[in-house]
Amino acid sequence: MTEARPFALAVALALSVGCSMPAPTESQQDGLRTLHNDWTSDGDGFVTFDLDVGSETSMLVTIDAESPYLAYVKNLYGPDGNVVVDGEAWAQSDQSLVGGVYIDVVSSLGWPLLSADTLAPGTWSVEVGVTDVEGFYVSGANVAFDAQLKTDDDLSGGVMGADIVYVGPVIQDVAARTAVEEAVGHWQDLYASVGISLEPEYWELDGPATMAAPGDGNAADYIAIAEQTNFRNVNVVIVEDIDSSLGQVYGIAGGIPGALVATESSAVAVSVLVNAGPDLVFSEEDVRLLGETMAHETGHFTGLSHPVEGTMDHWDALDDTPDCGSTNACESALGSNLMFPYPVCDGACTPQDELTNQQGGITNRYVGVE
Ligand SMILES: [Zn+2]
Repeated sequence: MTEARPFALAVALALSVGCSMPAPTESQQDGLRTLHNDWTSDGDGFVTFDLDVGSETSMLVTIDAESPYLAYVKNLYGPDGNVVVDGEAWAQSDQSLVGGVYIDVVSSLGWPLLSADTLAPGTWSVEVGVTDVEGFYVSGANVAFDAQLKTDDDLSGGVMGADIVYVGPVIQDVAARTAVEEAVGHWQDLYASVGISLEPEYWELDGPATMAAPGDGNAADYIAIAEQTNFRNVNVVIVEDIDSSLGQVYGIAGGIPGALVATESSAVAVSVLVNAGPDLVFSEEDVRLLGETMAHETGHFTGLSHPVEGTMDHWDALDDTPDCGSTNACESALGSNLMFPYPVCDGACTPQDELTNQQGGITNRYVGVE
């Protein structure tokens, strides 16, 4: 007598072997260790990328979901498996820590941010949520993941390169270029107060007279600019005007912090027309305001939020910028801070030339600063 034996078990085991995410590719770019990976969101719309941290002191993570989808950092986990940044909690908070927690076409997150934060060696994990423009989670969407890591033993000062890119008709605009180059002197003085030596490099590149804000249009133009300029430098794109849903803007940053890898958001844009004022001539005060605009927007790009938003009910997460509660109180407590959301003018405008120690710390930790 023999028994029939089932053979179905072997077939079931073979089917359970799925494919898993490959290790990220690694390279060195301008002194930064750079990792890249591509993967797709799971059935719930999430994907988790791992990265190994060695002796580095800070990192910048950038996630870019395939168009037309959006993404955000749901959680950042440290090597011990604990949540270091709870993205969804920060996105709902009345304080701003880092822009990568908000749903966007490109989202970046720097770490560490505050002086108490550390980047321990080991495997860190970045959990990403992917949505469509209406906020519904999307499965099977391609997501590009990039990280840059720097080793910098002195986080109290350093060198920052800025690629100042004249685009299109601005290339021929001698008055605007003269104003920009004089304004860069004000910007250098502002950053010197937090130990940063700003080194500008000037570029002339093709592009239209008017561009959308970074991340909000002209994607191919912004990517082409970022691909041509220095990898580690912040791109400050000088255009005739910015076409923004916010109306007339002096300047606008592609992220808080912004990405160094070439994306449609990897730039600060600055409007010549708005900075020159209604008479379209750069006065001495216009030049100073232009310098503050470049310093303010690049401040966002390094990870600085407004100390208080214009609504006066949303603050940065720093201890040394007061949490004021009315227009009068905030203009008086913070109106001369570089990151105040608007120029405070009564006839003349108050110079906005102050950065606190903690603001300086965030900018110094940004991987673009050597
Ligand atoms: Zn701002």
